[in-house]
Amino acid sequence: AIASVGFAILFVAVSVWFSWRPESEAEDEFVQAIRRGEFIPYYQPVMDIETGRLRGCEVLMRWQRPDGTVISPGAFMTFAETSGHIFEMTRQVMRKTRDEVGELYFQNPEFKLSINLFAGHFEDRQVIEDITEIYGESKIAFQQIVMEVTERQPLSNMDTARKIIAEMQAIGVRVALDDVGTGHGGFAYLQKLGIDIIKIDKMFIDSLGTDDNSTTIVDTMVELADNLGMGIIAEGVETMEQIERLRELGVSAAQGYIFAPPLPAKLFIELAQALSGG
Ligand code: C2E
Ligand code: CA
Ligand code: CA
Ligand code: CA
Repeated sequence: AIASVGFAILFVAVSVWFSWRPESEAEDEFVQAIRRGEFIPYYQPVMDIETGRLRGCEVLMRWQRPDGTVISPGAFMTFAETSGHIFEMTRQVMRKTRDEVGELYFQNPEFKLSINLFAGHFEDRQVIEDITEIYGESKIAFQQIVMEVTERQPLSNMDTARKIIAEMQAIGVRVALDDVGTGHGGFAYLQKLGIDIIKIDKMFIDSLGTDDNSTTIVDTMVELADNLGMGIIAEGVETMEQIERLRELGVSAAQGYIFAPPLPAKLFIELAQALSGG
């Protein structure tokens, strides 16, 4: 009895402390930035290196401060994820993609739009509601959307993740495994999650052509993707030589600074229109 009274007092004390605790300045600034809509999408083109045509883009989040400075995710993503703010930030970015490139995607039904999710998104089906609510009545079709799950973070529950991925696929959304070969998942993720596309990490692309092992690894990934019926995209492509090697290895989709960095909406749309000749 004494123990439970002690526990109750402790519980009340902790709750009071939490509700009265002043928010730290950083937290405050972050919440304000969300309220003001400062988290925005940048768009990195994904190219078809066989035909030279645009395949679509990967959406990469940026924090655009009121003074115009643009901050990359490396500086805020860890805090966004651990604080849980990432969920609202992701919704914010998805809504902006719908508003900014909806028309472009409507006119180019073959374009794909890749969105990065973090491991926490695969813990409950809120993300399915977000996708259906945001893109359901938009000019971007579910069939044009790809959700990226990174191998860098462990998934807390593979069965739940598998179910969420299956629900995405049931409405036509595809799922890509990002950062393949660098993290936790490896073959287990490929086997259990029902992935549609694998993304070859920049780490392997960097030494492609200069290091025989990298060439063998990429070659093996291509074969694996082929045998499993998955698509494949190379990321972080920076040189003509890498493009050549990728072509030889049979990789047809690539993104990287050699084509374009992540671009603000206006520039991405201009580039897309220039490439499609109109
Ligand atoms: P990622 O998903 O692996 O994205 C690729 C990163 O490589 C991006 O960095 C991109 O700008 C950069 N990159 C692309 N091409 C090249 C290249 O040729 N050379 C080099 N050196 N870098 C290249 P960024 O935009 O700073 O994003 C870093 C990471 O932050 C992303 O890695 C992703 O894990 C995370 N991230 C970005 N946006 C989001 C988001 O909306 N949600 C979540 N959960 N994570 C995001
Ligand atoms: Ca990614
Ligand atoms: Ca990646
Ligand atoms: Ca990477």
